[in-house]
Order: sequence, then structure tokens, then C-alpha cells
Amino acid sequence: MKSGIGKYEAVIGLEVHAQMLTDTKMFCGCSTRFGSEPNTQTCPVCIGMPGVLPVMNKKALEFTIKTGLAMNCKISPYSRFSRKNYFYPDLPKGYQISQYELPICEGGYIEVVVDGEVKRIGITRIHMEEDAGKNIHEGGGNYSFVDLNRAGIPLMEIVSEPDIRSPKEAAEYMKKLRTILRYLGVCDGNMEQGSLRCDANVSIRPVGQKEFGTRAEVKNINSFKFVEKALEYEIKRQIKVVEEGGRVIQETRLWDSNKGITESMRGKEEAHDYRYFPEPDLVPITAGQEWIDEIRIKLPELPDAKRKRFVSGYEIPEYDADLLTSEKAVAEWFEEAVRLGGSPKAVSNWMMGDLMRLLNEENKGIEECPLKPIQLVDMLKLIDNGTISGKIAKTVFEEMYKSGKEAGQIVKEKGLVQISDAGEIEKAIDEILTKSQREVERYKAGDEKLMGFFVGQVMKATKGKANPQMVNELLKKKLG
Ligand code: ADP
Ligand code: MG
Ligand code: ZN
Repeated sequence: MKSGIGKYEAVIGLEVHAQMLTDTKMFCGCSTRFGSEPNTQTCPVCIGMPGVLPVMNKKALEFTIKTGLAMNCKISPYSRFSRKNYFYPDLPKGYQISQYELPICEGGYIEVVVDGEVKRIGITRIHMEEDAGKNIHEGGGNYSFVDLNRAGIPLMEIVSEPDIRSPKEAAEYMKKLRTILRYLGVCDGNMEQGSLRCDANVSIRPVGQKEFGTRAEVKNINSFKFVEKALEYEIKRQIKVVEEGGRVIQETRLWDSNKGITESMRGKEEAHDYRYFPEPDLVPITAGQEWIDEIRIKLPELPDAKRKRFVSGYEIPEYDADLLTSEKAVAEWFEEAVRLGGSPKAVSNWMMGDLMRLLNEENKGIEECPLKPIQLVDMLKLIDNGTISGKIAKTVFEEMYKSGKEAGQIVKEKGLVQISDAGEIEKAIDEILTKSQREVERYKAGDEKLMGFFVGQVMKATKGKANPQMVNELLKKKLG
């Protein structure tokens, strides 16, 4: 009988809030710009004065429909807003305008790649709502501030089916959502600034059991790393509770990233009763089929379609294709390099390895990449025609990235041309073998692992410039 972690399976569903990239708020004309002085982007509508009337932002509706279509949802021809009632200082109206029983999008899915395998995660619904303001607790006094610039900013809430089975899958799902939202240009996907936020519902059940266990909802997760960390912690905690004979209770828990734990915030008994009712100040939404079709036609090629095209068209692995399509600009860089003559797998390897590493070191996106696709392609040609070895190419690549010089120029200036002259290589080999009598004897006595040692010594003696294949062949010949 298995015990501990292997005996249980996690069941996870995510509720994700995405701030939409509209210029104005959900129900008024106030600006949505981030980082302005507190309370400078407000008006009677978004600070909840009595007697005002909200007017829906059509762009926000269009963005939500776009997202729904991209996530394979059905778009409801008839939907409406409701009032979600609760009291909190960042919500001056005393209710949030949201969608409840009739959301605009339902029943979709997206695909994620986990360990090279494609998996579908169901999307239960996507609805529109308005953001609340922000409470600021600083100054140290016995008071807090409220900034209402964020109040009324359009949000999409994207609710997944409980289809996710591991913290890693949850992080991949979040990343894919972000990718799609950014391809569509409907959200900037910045988790640190809060434009993409995630509440994670999680439960455990014995492997093989069909029914779901009781779930906890973990709030306050604000990075991809924390999605994984918070869920790992919470799953372990629930397993421990059950293994010790207890029962998981339904509650809301808060992720504390400093302590690396989740803590109980409120139980089911204290759960809010929001007393939803239809918003009387807004007319129901009727999205015409013609308009929906117009939006559908204008959708860009989406990440999943692009990934499949990359796999079949360029014959690269699913893993590569998934990474290369995670940002539209990355995919464009790749395709440009291939169009200029780079072999797809070689381009992919250099991009996923050295290029991403160098960009990450400087916290740069591909848009700010100092290297042009043609420069990589020119370097690949130097490898293919034997001018430089793959190992030397790593030095050339980094130098190219840092100095902006062409590969050919770097190779010339630094004297990095590969040595493919058999005589010259043999000379180096002879020197090494003379110096390594003892190793030669051991090799001849059957210790074949020493081949690696000889190759390494020759490469070192030639400053990495000897053609590695020739070194191998010539060494084998000499050692007989
Ligand atoms: P609520 O509106 O109370 O938060 P929902 O039924 O809408 O509840 O579910 C919210 C999220 O919780 C969804 O993403 C769903 O997939 C997920 N979920 C539901 N039941 C479970 C469960 N037993 N374990 C894990 N996640 C669950
Ligand atoms: Mg919830
Ligand atoms: Zn306003």
C-alpha cells in the first residue's frame, strides 16, 4: 500500500483575473493608465456617487469575446450584468458590477504542453467585471489610504474546469493564458503589477477515486513561481491533514510568499453571501452573430495553431515549438532566421539556449534583442562549412551579442578559425601522448574511458580550435 504523497492526486481549478488593455474604464470614461497619482483618474461613476448611470465599454466586450473565441468558448447571444454586494473600503458603491448567471463566454478549452505532452484544460466561463480600488497601508499610523484609480478598470475573469493535476500544470496553464492574452493584445499579462491575478482552488483525493475532495481556495498569488510554490505547499498540507486522520475543510487561504506558506483567512461559515441580483442600470448584452464573426475573422494566428504549424512545418519537437511560440515576437524571430536559411532545429537550439540566457541576464525581451536573425544564420554557416567548431561558436555567439559585430569578423579578429589541418592536429596529439605515458598504458590495457581525457587535452592545447571530429579519429588511429 502506497502512503504519503504518491497515494494522492491533486485536483486544481484556477480563477484568473485579467485587466483589459482598454484606454478607459468599464462603465465610465476615466483613464486606465497605471502608476498615476492616487485618485486622479476617477469620476462620479467609478467612485460610486448616487444617481449616476454606468455605460458599458464596448471595447471591453469586444476584448472578452475575442478572448472567448481564442479559448474555444461559445459566445452567448444574450448575457447580462449583476450586482455582487459586499462592503469593503475599496468598493465605494457597496457592490461590484460583475456577470453571474449569464456570462458572455462559456464552455471552452486551451492546450498546454507539460513534459512534451499536449493536454487540454477546460474553460468553464469567461465573464466581465469591474476592478475594485486599492487600499494602501503605509505611513505607520492608525489609518489606511484608498486609491480609486483602479476602481472600475475592466477585468475578465477566466474560470477553469478542475482539470489541472499538478502545480507544474497549473503554472503552464497560467503561462499559456498569458501568452494568448498577449497575442490578442487584450491584457499585458504583468503578474507583478497585478494585471494578471490568480486564485487557485485545490483539493486532493486518493489515486483512483472519482469524486473530488473538499477544496481550499488560495488567494494572493502574484507570480508564476508562486503559483507552483503555493500549490505545492497547499497539497502537502492537505495530505498531511488527511494522513493524520483529519479532514480538509472548505476555506479561503492566503499565500504568504515571505513565509512560503498558506494561512487560513476565512472558513465556509464566514463565506460571503453576495446577494447577486441583475444590475438594473445596464441593459442586457446582445452580441450579434455578425459582429462575433467579424471579430473571429480578425483573430491573429493563435499560439496553439502556431505551435502545431511549427511542429509539422519545421519538424521541431513539441517542447521547442511551445517555447518558441510563447511570445509572438519570439516566433517571428525564429521564422525570420529560418527564412534566411538557418536550419530550424539549429536556430531553435541557439534561441532556447544561449539567446534566452543572454536576454534573461539583462532582463530583456526579444523586442530589445541586439542580435538580428541574419547574424545567427551567418554564424551557423560558419559552423556548417567547418570554419568554426560548435564549441567555439558559443564564444562567437556571446561576443556577437555583446559587441554587435558579425560572426566572420569576430572569428578573424580573435583567430578562432577551426584547425582542420591533419598535420597540425597530429602534432598536438603527439605532444600530449608523449606527456601522458601512464594514461596511454592504461588505455592500452583496456581503460577506454581515457579517450575523453586525451580529447580534452588536445582541445585544451589548441585553445578549443581543433576540429573535434578529426581529433577523435586521429587519436583512435594513433592509439590503435
Ligand atoms: P466559487 O464560485 O465558489 O469559487 P466554483 O464552483 O465556481 O466556485 O469553482 C471555482 C473554481 O474551483 C473553478 O476553477 C473550479 O474548477 C474549481 N473547483 C471546483 N471544485 C473543485 C475541487 N473539488 N477541487 C479543486 N478545484 C475545484
Ligand atoms: Mg472562487
Ligand atoms: Zn470614472
